[in-house]
Amino acid sequence: MKPLLLVMCIAVATVACATRQLAPEPGSGTYELRNAHWLGPSGFTQGTRYVVNGRFATARPARVDSSLDLSGGWVVSPFGEAHNHNLGYTSATRTDSVIARYLHDGVMYVQNPGDLPRSRDSLNGRVNRGGQLSVAFANGLLTATGGHPTGLYLRNLSRGTMTKADGDGGFLWLIDSLPDLERKWPRILDGHPDIIKTVLVHSEEYARRRNDTAFFNWRGLNPSLLPAIVSRAHAAGLRVMSHVETAADFHAAVVAGVDVIGHIPGFRGDENVQLPSAEPYQILREDAQLAAERHTWVVTTVGGIQTVDRQGPDSARRRAFDLLATHNLRVLKNAGVRLAIGSDEYRDDSVNEVRYLASLNVFDPLSLLRLWSENTPRAIFPSRRVGCLEDGCEASFLVLRMDPSVDIARTDSILLRMKDGRLLR
Ligand SMILES: [Zn+2]
Repeated sequence: MKPLLLVMCIAVATVACATRQLAPEPGSGTYELRNAHWLGPSGFTQGTRYVVNGRFATARPARVDSSLDLSGGWVVSPFGEAHNHNLGYTSATRTDSVIARYLHDGVMYVQNPGDLPRSRDSLNGRVNRGGQLSVAFANGLLTATGGHPTGLYLRNLSRGTMTKADGDGGFLWLIDSLPDLERKWPRILDGHPDIIKTVLVHSEEYARRRNDTAFFNWRGLNPSLLPAIVSRAHAAGLRVMSHVETAADFHAAVVAGVDVIGHIPGFRGDENVQLPSAEPYQILREDAQLAAERHTWVVTTVGGIQTVDRQGPDSARRRAFDLLATHNLRVLKNAGVRLAIGSDEYRDDSVNEVRYLASLNVFDPLSLLRLWSENTPRAIFPSRRVGCLEDGCEASFLVLRMDPSVDIARTDSILLRMKDGRLLR
């Protein structure tokens, strides 16, 4: 399916699609990287590698500008964050501090599946150039009238941080019918999204919720429209991510052929952030198998519950969320579904999501490391050679002081960062 998509991308979708996924302008320096352990398919192996024209090489080039002794460190690809909305311009100071935090934590591939397009314009020059964070943007989300996240939009409107013009056609695209989709689709493409974000919320109750004010902001697209959105997006060389709440949403998204599912069902529970019953949120084995067969990515976003203390007064709720996340992660893992790490935590990057996943003991540290540093960058930029340290891969990496396959918390022992063949300070 991928090669076909690429061909269609080149044939149909013109410059936007063809250029969006290119690697940033690399640094021109040639490096020798000595004395390190390199993560590869069979774990860490010792050796020397080179950086030539912003790509890794195993053969020594004719000229080496700098030879770096990596002090026996552990080299991994930079980490990813496949679901966060905090890379949007608010003020220069705030934007720079968010970017600095990502770089500090070694999280260099980021996906913003729902942003205000005009705020994205203001990020120009701060991301997606050589040596900067690589960020993919969905622009406005496709949802139903009164659907998630209209509540967020209205809150921002009342605070004065968004305007009326930022509503339908800006932060949101309200799609209630096929004619709505047909009419708005050209404008959606005009915004040059990197991925199309769609919203399903309890799609098993779509008819009941669509006109009931009790479900304002807790409804989403008519699931029968999703295949039409997917086929249009794929024809334009674009992938589709779906927001999901329930196992039924997960099923609808997989069957419709979306490329990425943006959450694991039950990540935030019901309208009151409770989990009276886990059952509506438990992914069915058949659906997980279908997702694996279709190579659908699933983004985790389960760590939000960490703010509830395991020993505190609300410990029963915490335990219920922990059990549900553990169950769903096991079902996905056992079926061989491709997982990517994402937090959906506006005030964080993906570091605490990884800590939470580690605490559930579904993945050993090496598997978790691979999800974070290999899978997640590839999930965000599937046509780039990212998340790898082999010949021809983009020369972006972190050097860790300690072996992270022993304890994932060691991923914070970063000694050195390179992005696109450029050393970062
Ligand atoms: Zn989100």
